[in-house]
Amino acid sequence: MDPRKLHSEYGLDQRLADAGCAYCGSAPEGADHVPSKALLDDPLPDDLPVVPACKQCNQGVSADEQYLACFLECVVSGSTDPERIVRPKVARALRRSPALAAMIASTCTESAGGQLIWTPDMERVERVVLKLARGHHLFELSSPQLEQPASIDCVPLIAMCPERRKAFESPAGLPGWPEIGSRAFLRGAGIELPHSAGAWVDVQRSRYRYSVRDGGWVRIVIREYLACEVVWG
Ligand SMILES: [Zn+2]
Repeated sequence: MDPRKLHSEYGLDQRLADAGCAYCGSAPEGADHVPSKALLDDPLPDDLPVVPACKQCNQGVSADEQYLACFLECVVSGSTDPERIVRPKVARALRRSPALAAMIASTCTESAGGQLIWTPDMERVERVVLKLARGHHLFELSSPQLEQPASIDCVPLIAMCPERRKAFESPAGLPGWPEIGSRAFLRGAGIELPHSAGAWVDVQRSRYRYSVRDGGWVRIVIREYLACEVVWG
């Protein structure tokens, strides 16, 4: 596709349109929403980020995105029964695909203490998270990140110890800021951090937020449950 068309059709700025597919660098054939709409609810935000993408990358991970959205919602809702699922979009997807609901249910066990333990397919989760991270990297920094990352970490926020949680939540690279670095404080003080410095971008409240640090990492929180970090270099 002619990058100028991406520019006019999707409002991509020219540097983004010229960058090639955000995920593999080949010639783009359209634009892809980052994050995928499967991870968000209606009404969608007006200014949902888009990046150029080839057809294969655009469609190649969509089943995995659907899986992750459904899996997370089952964990958060404590059930694979569509009647008990909080997000309407996911309840519909599970009704449409009883096989997916059954597959997710088969990965859930109950501990001796009666707690539900869910075991995700980490290969699928990491595929989705890497794609999301590459999309955010290109969108925020106008530079693609096509190298293999040094690490991909995905853990529930509630499984983090307080120190790790604090480090994860804080915009990095701002000496002297961490104590007052909470998003609420920064907003209250009317301070806007540049995204390239690791400030959090709330795409949709309690559904999806991300943070990009130039040259270093992309952090993502999905459903205020799953904390993901992709590190390069
Ligand atoms: Zn591609």
